[in-house]
Amino acid sequence: MHILKFGGTSVGSVDSIKILVEIVKKSFEEGHHPVVVCSAMGGVTNSLLQMGEQALASQDFIEDLRAIENRHQEVIRALLPVEKQNQALITTKVMINELEEILYGIKALSELSPSVKDKLVSFGELLSNQMVAEIIGQIVGRTIFTDARQLIVTDSHFGNAMVMESISYENIKRWYAQINGIIPVVTGFIATDKAGRTTTLGRGGSDYTAAILGAALDATEVQIWTDVNGFMTADPRMVKKAYTLPDLTYEEAMELSYFGAKVIYPPTMIPAIARQIPILIKNTFDPNQVGTRIGKPSGKSSGIIRGIASVSDITLVNVQGSGLIGMKGFSGRLFSALASAGVNVMLITQASSEHSISLAIAPEESVAAENALRTAFEYEIMVGKMLAPQIVSGLSILAVVGENMRHASGL
Ligand code: ADP
Ligand code: ASP
Ligand code: MG
Repeated sequence: MHILKFGGTSVGSVDSIKILVEIVKKSFEEGHHPVVVCSAMGGVTNSLLQMGEQALASQDFIEDLRAIENRHQEVIRALLPVEKQNQALITTKVMINELEEILYGIKALSELSPSVKDKLVSFGELLSNQMVAEIIGQIVGRTIFTDARQLIVTDSHFGNAMVMESISYENIKRWYAQINGIIPVVTGFIATDKAGRTTTLGRGGSDYTAAILGAALDATEVQIWTDVNGFMTADPRMVKKAYTLPDLTYEEAMELSYFGAKVIYPPTMIPAIARQIPILIKNTFDPNQVGTRIGKPSGKSSGIIRGIASVSDITLVNVQGSGLIGMKGFSGRLFSALASAGVNVMLITQASSEHSISLAIAPEESVAAENALRTAFEYEIMVGKMLAPQIVSGLSILAVVGENMRHASGL
């Protein structure tokens, strides 16, 4: 079985959906039992979030809502036979009306909580997958639209929820056992908490949905169909000479994506590693390109450095002082203080003398970090064993990644 995930640009227009259908058709005819996962149409998730903010500020959002409706209607009119259009247009209209009610609710209550945001953005994937399921059903074979909220259960950390694997995997297996030859089209990105409230897996999370389905169903391949030829040596928008890598290890892909290579969402690698399922990154707009295969080390990967990635807008916290040398339990206190304040540390460096430690964090967490450290080390700072934490903002992390780097001395 193959899981085929199509990102925002791949479901973004009439032309791209035509290609998507061909890709699914080929997979189906070759006997790969495709399971299709789609994102929202490109730009729709951002637009929904923006409409939420507009509703909150009592500004007009109707024009943007109509634009979303029109984009879906255009695809339905172009790609479904006339006799099937009405039903699909009604399904779309019903969802748009529900969306409109939610937006008026946000406006009336002047409240846009993380849980309401997740409910709001879920319509992006619901709209696109209903539509794509109908279209594939016309051209390829019988399809069943599936709302992933029936399958994937998470905690209640809205906006970036944690997947509860065993219960989700059980749900997925039970669901798939009933399908029998029908092509499922499953919403990416969205899930449910135990109380039945809509959650999301984090921005870019449809890739993760695909890997979860792949792991639960023991797929032989998870394919990520996007708008570039594969995983590249650097972000092609920033580096003109970036080129596509034919293969990467899971660890290399995880590290590059964690440090900003947006082409795949970092947690996607976790279920794939657990079941050793290869992930293929392919270009919807040029399907004959070989793409990138992410998997076990192949032994043939050439080069020491595989790729470069970056995260901009980083804040560095420097903690230093001669009194830190040999101070027992210092690091433990440092990280406990940050953890209690909910600060996520992205990168740590320590000078070999232990005389200074630097931590990279998100800028919005810098005040919390500074306060936490000033409180935890009040005494040390007062007696001069440690300097007050120094906060430097406006930095970037540049990550140079390659599995073979560890064997390359002098690099
Ligand atoms: P999708 O909507 O298909 O999920 P994304 O926009 O999330 O697509 O990811 C694909 C984009 O990631 C590419 O268009 C490219 O601009 C960007 N990107 C950043 N770094 C890399 C990289 N190292 N290799 C390939 N693409 C990258
Ligand atoms: N539509 C969601 C987003 O824009 C999920 C995804 O595209 O993977 O973040
Ligand atoms: Mg993506």
